[in-house]
Amino acid sequence: MNGDAVSPEISVDVAVVGGGIMGAATAWQLTQRGARVALCDALRPGHDMGSSHGAGRIARFTYSESIYLEMARRSFDRWSEVEKTADVTLLETTGSWECGPEHSGELAELIEALERHRIPHEIWDSVESNRRFPHFNLPRTSRAVFQRDGAVLRAERAWRSLWHLLQVAGAALLADAPVLSLDIGPRGVSFRAGATLVRAGVVVVTAGAWSRELVQPTGLDLPLTVTRETIAYFAPASNASASATDHRVGAMPTLIDYHSPQPFYALPMFEDSTEEPGVKIGWHHAGHEIEPTRIPNTHFGGGDADAKIVERLVSYVGDRFPFLQMRPLHATSCLYTNTPDYHFVLGRHPGQPRVVIGTGFSGHGFKFAPVVGEILADLATDTEPCFDLGLFRPQRFAEGPSPRRRIA
Ligand SMILES: Cc1cc2nc3c(=O)[nH]c(=O)nc-3n(C[C@H](O)[C@H](O)[C@H](O)COP(=O)(O)OP(=O)(O)OC[C@H]3O[C@@H](n4cnc5c(N)ncnc54)[C@H](O)[C@@H]3O)c2cc1C
Repeated sequence: MNGDAVSPEISVDVAVVGGGIMGAATAWQLTQRGARVALCDALRPGHDMGSSHGAGRIARFTYSESIYLEMARRSFDRWSEVEKTADVTLLETTGSWECGPEHSGELAELIEALERHRIPHEIWDSVESNRRFPHFNLPRTSRAVFQRDGAVLRAERAWRSLWHLLQVAGAALLADAPVLSLDIGPRGVSFRAGATLVRAGVVVVTAGAWSRELVQPTGLDLPLTVTRETIAYFAPASNASASATDHRVGAMPTLIDYHSPQPFYALPMFEDSTEEPGVKIGWHHAGHEIEPTRIPNTHFGGGDADAKIVERLVSYVGDRFPFLQMRPLHATSCLYTNTPDYHFVLGRHPGQPRVVIGTGFSGHGFKFAPVVGEILADLATDTEPCFDLGLFRPQRFAEGPSPRRRIA
């Protein structure tokens, strides 16, 4: 999967720049449609400098906006297809559980959306929640929504599986191949990916935290900001009672806690997770803004945890998780690429129809990757996408007031 096996000059129908989960899913969709595809990345799949590394991600239907809810529904089906084709397990059902103060607006909107879309769910007061989910100490005046189909997604396995499927499908996979600039002509796009000259009819940019730098010279300045987000892993405490000890997938749901303006979230442990043991806990959008380097390199990105955020996670565990140890096993980081409204950027470049953009996933994109891949593949092949992309238009930031910023 590197440039060695590929000639120094290749011509394809579509080139995808950025081989994280979104680029890999897009390239996979394109190969399924018979397109000749190149997928280029400055690094290698599984690297921890961007946004797609780590064992797990929350996959849930619990969105208050209909479009995300419908995209999530479709994504679950599409993930199952990837599972079958690659012969791997990616989605592990564990239920999703979200809590907040009794009169939380976020919970009210969520419940309304679940009802509107007839998604089965249960609403629990604190007594019921603490009985059903004793892992978490829900305050007396709070409530929770449980949705039984929520899952944990095997993130890094999904990413590597897609690269493997692409290799089998004969896509040109260019790893360790940074793209410095795009040369856009009337009949196509050309660029160097490492040592290889790539010529393509259309380019799809899925460059995560580096998208702004790559797209800016083409006449579109996306107002993306990049934050380094810290997560920490906590082991079950030895004093855990029999009913509450099981923090593994299947026994503990995923959690989003709306008690603070920036929600905390948690993922149960994988049965076999040796490289990332423990319950993963994070604080959504609490990270510091950073300046991305011009192109990805192995000295920038994930890795360094913010000690102050780790401290806050420890105190959160102390307040809310009676059966977890307060000393984290491990803390690390990962990048969010944020739009001002936290909605994605999915669309054609307004001034360059041969450039398609998929970025700005604002910390909640992973679960949607197969559907994002379908949408970007549609745009790259002049097919009408099956979702209305109005909310995601790349040019929306220059056109007036943004929609309300979403929360989680
Ligand atoms: C801590 C954390 C927790 C999260 N939790 C969840 C969750 O529970 N559920 C959920 O749905 N989502 C979650 N997300 C969000 C999700 O992980 C991201 O939305 C998703 O991984 C974004 O993928 P991407 O492909 O856009 O970016 P990336 O994975 O960063 O991929 C971009 C790729 O482009 C390459 N690249 C960039 N520039 C160039 C260039 N010039 N030339 C060549 N290659 C280039 C990079 O090397 C990189 O591999 C979380 C994210 C983080 C950080």
